Amino acid sequence: MSENSTVKKNVRVRYAPSPTGFLHIGNAQSALFNYLFARHYHGTMVLRIEDTDVKRNVPHGEDSQIDNLHWLGIDWDEGPDKPNPKYAPYHQTERQDLYHRYITQLLDQGLAYKDYATEDELTTMRDQQRAAGEAPHYDGRWYGRSVADQQAAEARGLKPSIRLHLPANHEYAWDDIIKGHVAFNSDNMGGDFIIEKSNGMPTYNFAVVIDDYLMDITDVLRGDDHIANTPKQIAVYEALGLKHPNFGHITLIYNPKTRKKLSKRDKETLQFISQYKNQGYLSEAIFNFIAFLGWSPEGEDELFSREELIERYDPARMSKSPAYFDQSKLDWINAAYIKRLDLDDMTDRVLELVDEGQTDVAKQVKALQLPDLRTLTSQVCKIYQTEIHQLSEIMDKVLFYVTILQEPLDYDQLRQFDRTATLAVLTAFRKHVQALPVDVATPDFKKMIQTVSQETGVTGRNLYFPLNVAFTGDHSAPQIDEVLRLFANSTIIELLTKAIAHV
Ligand code: GLU
Repeated sequence: MSENSTVKKNVRVRYAPSPTGFLHIGNAQSALFNYLFARHYHGTMVLRIEDTDVKRNVPHGEDSQIDNLHWLGIDWDEGPDKPNPKYAPYHQTERQDLYHRYITQLLDQGLAYKDYATEDELTTMRDQQRAAGEAPHYDGRWYGRSVADQQAAEARGLKPSIRLHLPANHEYAWDDIIKGHVAFNSDNMGGDFIIEKSNGMPTYNFAVVIDDYLMDITDVLRGDDHIANTPKQIAVYEALGLKHPNFGHITLIYNPKTRKKLSKRDKETLQFISQYKNQGYLSEAIFNFIAFLGWSPEGEDELFSREELIERYDPARMSKSPAYFDQSKLDWINAAYIKRLDLDDMTDRVLELVDEGQTDVAKQVKALQLPDLRTLTSQVCKIYQTEIHQLSEIMDKVLFYVTILQEPLDYDQLRQFDRTATLAVLTAFRKHVQALPVDVATPDFKKMIQTVSQETGVTGRNLYFPLNVAFTGDHSAPQIDEVLRLFANSTIIELLTKAIAHV
């Protein structure tokens, strides 16, 4: 255990997704750092579902969050599925009466007030402010209004929202775990802000405070897109006379090409965790990769298991500057993890992708309904394990080899080699395969290639390249004797005959 892991006591952190979409890499980054923080300090990780923006919630948004977090190996100690009676429930929509209790308290104390301004009125107000060169803000028009004014508005059928009153020229400051000292002045926070919408739902900035307080959250780690929300939340804590937790704002993920925040419009970057999974990235590799988006340990090493990351995690090493998404690094990490897999495990993982059928290639392989798919997949894994970056490449290869007789290969490559030698090799090889007794289960192709070499006097690349092209369509194929084991002898003969015809 490293030294700083003993310093913090009773740590409680939370990952608090809004089920308005599927688990995005940015969400996963927040979840992962909270997880590392909780596990490093032997604290408690809470999963809370912030579902009050009912219109924006998507079907299966919550399931996607939970399933993909599980896939990544991120678990929690408390949440909707593991309620602790002291803190439950864990869905904000089930905690309405708690929020109302605090709203009532603030209204009674005159620290919050009802605002009957209509949407149109507020729009006009902001337009006028902009025209006057001011930053749009709520001008406090309903602060301190009489009961008679309120009753008149009610009589007109208006439903109020509730706003928190901000004291003038007041500083809201905190020592951010990541950014250091951050301060906002109440005069530049957009004016008194809404804590309960006119439909009776609390706003995010209010509910989050009540929940973090009631759930005894000690440290809040979230994306730095929330940094302007933090002074508002501190204002709520202050109004309620409560101490706020520590805050840490994690750098967002940036697109290295545009140098801008990664956006859902950046089509060339996979963004949802399910996409990485379907593409054949390993969960261990994604975990490792994301841990380096906004953090790095001491030293140059970049491959760490979950346990090592938990051990080494140190919030003081979280980065203040943007985390650039580096696709080649991701592929390098994934390839490194694939290389370490045991063959059976690798085969299982590929077969799971086939079975789930979430990509075109997975669907195509599945549709073949091959009785010997496992053997074939395992053999292809053995051949390509050290070459690939994503498990989907194994499915591509399986599909390729199973349908090899259906598509013409790139035989033109055969012209790059000495014609006489090429013909001699291919013909001699065909002769040996034709001569194989029918009952040979696994012919010794390595030996056969040596025999062909001795008979023809052809060696080195002039020997191997034509065979590679004939059986894989690519002159730089790996382990050709292993590739040959994928085929029935009749297929080998047919492939040789086609190649010979092209020389
Ligand atoms: N529900 C918020 C989000 O998904 C959580 C922000 C926070 O952690 O406070 O962005």
